[in-house]
Amino acid sequence: MTALARGVLRRPTAAVSAAWLCLVLVSSVGAPLFAPHGPLDQDLTHVLSGPSSGHLLGTDALGRDILSRLLYGGQSTLLGVVEALLVYLLLGITFGLAAGYLGGWVDWVVTRTAELMFALPGIIIVLVVLSVFPDNLSVAMITFGALGSPGLVRLLRAQTLSVREELYVASARVSGLAPAQILRRHILPRMISMVIVQAALCAAIVVTIQAGLGFLGFGIQPPNPSWGGLVADASNVIDTDPWMLVPAGVPLVLTVIALGLLGDAIRDSATANWSVSTMAPPRAPAASPARATADSPAAAPADPDPEALLSVRGLSIEISGTVVVQDVSFDLMPGQTMGVVGESGCGKSVTALGVLGLVPGGGRISAGRCLFEGRDLAALSPAELAAVRGSGIAFVSQEPMVALDPTFTVSAQLAEAVRRHRGLSRKAARSRVLELLSLVNIPDPAAVAGRYPHQLSGGMAQRIAIALALAGEPRLLIADEPTTALDVTVQAEILALLRTLQARTGMSVLIVTHDWGVVADLCDRAVVMYAGQVVEYADVSDMFHEPHHPYTLGLLAANPHLAVEGEPLPTIPGTVPAPRDWPSGCRFTDRCPYATAECSAGPVPLVQQQADRLSRCLHTDRLVPEGGRR
Ligand code: SF4
Repeated sequence: MTALARGVLRRPTAAVSAAWLCLVLVSSVGAPLFAPHGPLDQDLTHVLSGPSSGHLLGTDALGRDILSRLLYGGQSTLLGVVEALLVYLLLGITFGLAAGYLGGWVDWVVTRTAELMFALPGIIIVLVVLSVFPDNLSVAMITFGALGSPGLVRLLRAQTLSVREELYVASARVSGLAPAQILRRHILPRMISMVIVQAALCAAIVVTIQAGLGFLGFGIQPPNPSWGGLVADASNVIDTDPWMLVPAGVPLVLTVIALGLLGDAIRDSATANWSVSTMAPPRAPAASPARATADSPAAAPADPDPEALLSVRGLSIEISGTVVVQDVSFDLMPGQTMGVVGESGCGKSVTALGVLGLVPGGGRISAGRCLFEGRDLAALSPAELAAVRGSGIAFVSQEPMVALDPTFTVSAQLAEAVRRHRGLSRKAARSRVLELLSLVNIPDPAAVAGRYPHQLSGGMAQRIAIALALAGEPRLLIADEPTTALDVTVQAEILALLRTLQARTGMSVLIVTHDWGVVADLCDRAVVMYAGQVVEYADVSDMFHEPHHPYTLGLLAANPHLAVEGEPLPTIPGTVPAPRDWPSGCRFTDRCPYATAECSAGPVPLVQQQADRLSRCLHTDRLVPEGGRR
């Protein structure tokens, strides 16, 4: 029994409601076994009699046993509920999830169609259908299910819009899962409790509508039994035999109330405290490679390095029409680790996610190329990009706990990734899961494999997120601040793990960080970003010993790892300007101690000053001697 079911049944009203519904289900399905008489059998010596040993609930005006007709009548009611619910759920789930997850024209068409269906008078349509298909209750219930489905569509669409932004969904996307798999494995399970609630409410309405149709003489025709027909029979003799309304009406009312109470209990028991991340679905990339803005007159990097595993050239990214990353270029060689450094708001994470086609905030790549093993990721179709994610490029976020799907065990999540990427059998995948857990130094892998994400510590969750990323044996691992959310001891362990894994697997690593300690510990080269641009690009040792940009110099001076006890840590005055406030000249002008009037005159290009060293500064000559003294 699931935790949700246990939570629901712990509520007395829900337990009683569930028991009543079970009783209705079993007694109706088993009517031939339980009913003391046939539904059409007449006992003309007992007409309109009250309860007796021969007829526990009495008889109707034709001497038929009310209990037996009630039990048999429940069959048509249940059949109608099943028919309506099947259509309701099929349409509601399919179109609700598709509209919320896929967005774009799919969302537009589904939403407009749902609004149109909402405007239709449902009960009138059902009556028209019954006039076209007389006495065919199945067609009426299917129609009713279809007419009710827009409510579920709108609800699931809204929820999917929220859930699709969560990191574990983005993580599944990064690992190469197709949209249908993501919806089935990662999004739908989050909606189950809500779907059950809506189904219970829909069932209650269907029971009521059916009874109403039966009362009006539509649907199941006399002498066949139906709950609505029983109420109609009782209303005909209400003056002479009011008792008959009790067995005819009470089960109907109790069933509707039980469905409503059960729905309420499920809603109250369902856990809804899921966190939301900032990731957004991939948007269609703009045609590459064209990009030219007046603000970047001379991008220094020339053609992509053919030896590079990843070659980014002139990458620009827009979010809500605003350029947030502009003209970023760098090369990452096989087996190399590159750090992307800068303050918050400089575009580091957006750049890393842009490489994966996962621009946050509904943004898009507006220009540039991301050549991975010679293929331009910015020009790939969503399906081609999905194939690269996970097996070619893997991603580790800074929030491992939300990057893991809370509804599955560690073993299930890793096995799914392993089977998808390597096509292993279930048994082989289980064994590979244990190997992966051992690879990331998880103690007692077998025990941890059976745990859920909420049962893991932060460090352990990050190790498992790394194991998940390694499941596809990627050639490139992109890690976005992988140690930020961890305490110092665990940070050191994760960094050591990344170093060991890279040495063992030979993969390249692109690591986004604001921590020079991470750069010094792991990286061969570093890209320093400021206000959406690369301002310096160099080998880490060169950058540490002789920074060529005042911003790099300021960041290094503010490095807490170099703090002198008793002395205040130097800081860079001011803050990073927002994209809409970027100055037309050097974007660091307002904070730069070396700024001159010339710096504000126009855009400053990224210039190659030495082999493999680039800097975006007009006065590097003034800076280098000072940097060299550090
Ligand atoms: S161009 Fe001028 S303002 Fe910009 S970093 Fe260089 S010295 Fe500072």
